[in-house]
Amino acid sequence: MTKFVFVTGGVSSSLGKGIISASLAKLLQARGYSVTIQKFDPYINIDPGTLNPYEHGECYVTEDGAETDLDLGHYERFLNVPTSQANNVTTGRIYQTVIDKERKGDYLGKTVQVIPHITDEIKRRMLLLGENNKYDIVITEIGGTVGDIESLPYVEAIRQLKWDIGTQNYLVIHLTLVPYLSAAKELKTKPTQHSVKELLENGVQPDILVCRSEHPLGQELRKKIARFCNVSINAVIESLDAKTIYDVPLRMLKEKLDKIVLTKLKLSTKKEPDLEQWKTFLGKLKNPTSEVKIGIVGKYVELQDAYKSIHEAFVHAGAANECKVNIVSIHSEEVNDKNVAEKLGNLSGVLVAPGFGSRGIEGKITAIKYVRENEIPFFGICLGMQCAVVEFARNVLNLKKAKSIEVDAKTPHPVINLMEKQKKVKKMGGTMRLGAAPCKLTKATKAYQAYGKATISERHRHRYEFNNKYLKDFNDSGMLTSGVNPDNELVEIIELKDHPWFVGAQFHPELKSTVANPHPLFVGFVKAAVKQNSDKNKSN
Ligand code: GLN
Repeated sequence: MTKFVFVTGGVSSSLGKGIISASLAKLLQARGYSVTIQKFDPYINIDPGTLNPYEHGECYVTEDGAETDLDLGHYERFLNVPTSQANNVTTGRIYQTVIDKERKGDYLGKTVQVIPHITDEIKRRMLLLGENNKYDIVITEIGGTVGDIESLPYVEAIRQLKWDIGTQNYLVIHLTLVPYLSAAKELKTKPTQHSVKELLENGVQPDILVCRSEHPLGQELRKKIARFCNVSINAVIESLDAKTIYDVPLRMLKEKLDKIVLTKLKLSTKKEPDLEQWKTFLGKLKNPTSEVKIGIVGKYVELQDAYKSIHEAFVHAGAANECKVNIVSIHSEEVNDKNVAEKLGNLSGVLVAPGFGSRGIEGKITAIKYVRENEIPFFGICLGMQCAVVEFARNVLNLKKAKSIEVDAKTPHPVINLMEKQKKVKKMGGTMRLGAAPCKLTKATKAYQAYGKATISERHRHRYEFNNKYLKDFNDSGMLTSGVNPDNELVEIIELKDHPWFVGAQFHPELKSTVANPHPLFVGFVKAAVKQNSDKNKSN
């Protein structure tokens, strides 16, 4: 029977529940258990697809086209197993299901209430991934902080589940903060005690406490937390700030988090975790033989989480190249003809980020013109690819007024166009071209060289597309279409024939980069940046 682990958070948000959940899952997976992680988010949006990245960071897209929380990205990057729509549920989705059922008459005669109807729907969804015993262990992360009004139905659902599924199949991990007061030179346990009390008031006794702290906890402090929070002393886990999130699984291994979880769930701890591949990756990450500076040009650069998967894909690709990738964030609204050389001149590569709307577009196009003309490796993702197409149309094909019709519906040269299917779309939520689609690569291109095979599948999240009316003009002038969707001829990858490395992808390669499988295009791009850097050093 599938076992369930619930992860709640207390005291403060941003303690890294997603990373702790992913790290625990990694350790359990390394011991041979099949594990998945799901996230329940207490907000009312049906999914984060319509949220501004400033609100909630990046929107992560799964194979099946679900727009989800960025924590699912961590789950995939750590476990190398794809997630799906079922792995991310919001309060909005729960209520929508219950209200739809009410309209259908499923509750005829009854008053529909938070308890039991909403909590029953939460429980049903929490158990869904455990059906057919597909997984040995399902880890469920509850978003938000215990004590928030909106988290209450989730905590109540967890309380009830203990009795529904049986105590031997059930475990609660509570993540808290143990702050350090520098004036008193002391770590303080009171916030943790209060946070656990909050859970207890709602009938949930956590089995394990993971304590985020800037300083080691010490035996006495662990004892104190154990005594006041009703947990055994070995179930008080220290989680210190780590240099890289990829250190956390090994930290948790040292704290024996996986062993305690398995013991409490009455599962065998005989097989030691096999983390060879993980350690090799960490070894390369921490011992680079070269270093490059790569710029990310985007309009959300103030908020790192907005481009989370891109940053992580660079970590994976950096390690694969044994190269330290230093990211330089460049605000697209601040790039213009006058300062572009100063901003980009000393970089070994430039990535132009995905995005929506017209803000910052001209800065992106200016940056692309500069790297195209100065032969600096370029990687355009989604909107970044579309900007590369517009730039080429304007400055090489001489279609000076070329634009994407997202920016100007009346442009005389709509080189980036809206698909017929998209023209009828009125609703904004979940209506983009979403999820995995096949792509056929042309031999003897940089894309083919990177992937080393002819057919690939990548994930999408966009409404606009390359306008095939202009295809021949582009191809004739040196912009190749190296990847095309075999079902509908949509252009998926463009690249320049005469340039060290200039590639644009209509899809989002960053979503499929994992520790075990660094994304080939990111690996190829970083490799080109390393070459650029060493060529420059040689000529100096
Ligand atoms: N705004 C563009 C589109 O909808 C690009 C989207 C993106 O970069 N994800 O097609």
